[in-house]
Order: sequence, then C-alpha cells, then structure tokens
Amino acid sequence: MIDMDQQRFHPLVIVTAPSGSGKTTIVHHLLKRFPELDFSVSACTRPPRQNEVDGRDYYFLTPEAFQQKIQEGAFAEYEMVYEGKYYGTLISELERIWRNHQIPLVDIDVRGALHLLDKYPDQSLSLFVQPPSLDVLRERLIKRGSETSISLEERLQKAAEELKYAPHFHHIIYNDSLEHALAQAEVAVGAFIARMLNKEIP
Ligand code: ADP
Ligand code: 5GP
Repeated sequence: MIDMDQQRFHPLVIVTAPSGSGKTTIVHHLLKRFPELDFSVSACTRPPRQNEVDGRDYYFLTPEAFQQKIQEGAFAEYEMVYEGKYYGTLISELERIWRNHQIPLVDIDVRGALHLLDKYPDQSLSLFVQPPSLDVLRERLIKRGSETSISLEERLQKAAEELKYAPHFHHIIYNDSLEHALAQAEVAVGAFIARMLNKEIP
C-alpha cells in the first residue's frame, strides 16, 4: 500500500489518445494488473450509453449542474471534448482516491491531459496511445459500433489534430499489436509505481 499521507507528492497516471486508439482497453488492463491504481470517474454532460452506470463510468451531469461545478472551481480540468459535450476531472475524485492511498488513473482527451500535466507536473506519468494510422482508427471505431456517422467524422477530424501532441507525453504507446501495447504500458506504469513507493520523504 502507498502511504500517501507520508508522500510529498500525490501521484497521478494519465492515459490519453484520440478516441478509438485503445485507451479504454489499456486502462482496463492496467486497473486489473495494478491494485495501486483506481479509475478516476469523470463528470460529463453526454447521455449514458447502454450498460453505462452513473458513478461508475461517469458522473452524468446536466449542462446546468456541470456549469455550477465550473463556477465552484470543482474541476482539475474540463473541456468541451465534442460539440456541446463537456467532460471534466473532479478534484474531489482525485482526492477521494489519494485519501484511499491509491493512485488515480485518468482517461482523458489530449487537451485535458495537457492541462493536467501543467497542473501536476512533478507527480504525473502520462501515456499517449498512438493508433497505427487514421485508417486503422476509422476501422476500429466502425467495428466498435458506438458512433453515428457524424460523430465518427468528428472523432477522426479531432484525432488528426491530437496526434500532433504525442511528443508532449512521457511515453508513446504504439497500439498496433495489442499485446505489445499492453506490455509497454505495464512496464511504464510498473516503473512509475515503484518510483513512487521508494520516494524519499524530504
Ligand atoms: P478508446 O478508449 O481510445 O476510444 P477502445 O479501447 O474503446 O479505444 O478501442 C477501440 C476499439 O478498438 C475497441 O473495439 C477495441 O476492442 C479495439 N482495439 C483496441 N486495441 C486494438 C488493437 N491493438 N488491435 C485491434 N483492435 C483494437
Ligand atoms: P466517450 O464519450 O467516448 O466516453 O469519451 C470521449 C472522450 O472524452 C474520450 O477521449 C475520453 O478520454 C474523454 N474524457 C473522458 N473524461 C474526460 C475528462 O474528465 N476530461 C477530459 N478533458 N476528457 C475526458
């Protein structure tokens, strides 16, 4: 167990990528592999998909409730990730996980990830999941079957822009072979957790 009260820093693992790159798949694997991690549940204003549960997948908020939280300064970062749809990392969620002596694992879009890195520069590990190409990304999104054709095009346009930011993150996890990508992510996160466990208290 990590004794967060004794830590100077509260560590954070950030996984980011264009939608469809394999973030969720990698995040699920990391959560299973490392009991030190806990998923940071974001708030958002999009409606729940089938099988999504409020408080487990997202805190599903009305636009008014989300706005209220912005006014209160409740977010570590927030973004309009898609047209009219807001997503944000709640400070209270990060603090809940730190209080439980665990490390928050956040799955967020690229702009949000850059903001978190700015806000928590010395305590974060960031992974950028890179798809082999935009064509492969399109295929994966179609296969996942979660998008309408409008949201598919919106996601692909956004992806082309987001790929330019890959070099800003600590590790680029190239997700061609899933097996290799999972192994790479595991090595990076394992080393980070080990570093956090051994951190000297000043
Ligand atoms: P994201 O969370 O980044 O949107 P997902 O993890 O949902 O991405 O992955 C998008 C789709 O691609 C899912 O259907 C997933 O099973 C599939 N997928 C992920 N990684 C690979 C891979 N290396 N090869 C083939 N399909 C993959
Ligand atoms: P989806 O609607 O497919 O669940 O998620 C859309 C995108 O929003 C994904 O890229 C996801 O990583 C991102 N996202 C989820 N939570 C947050 C958050 O708290 N902040 C930001 N900036 N992006 C988020």
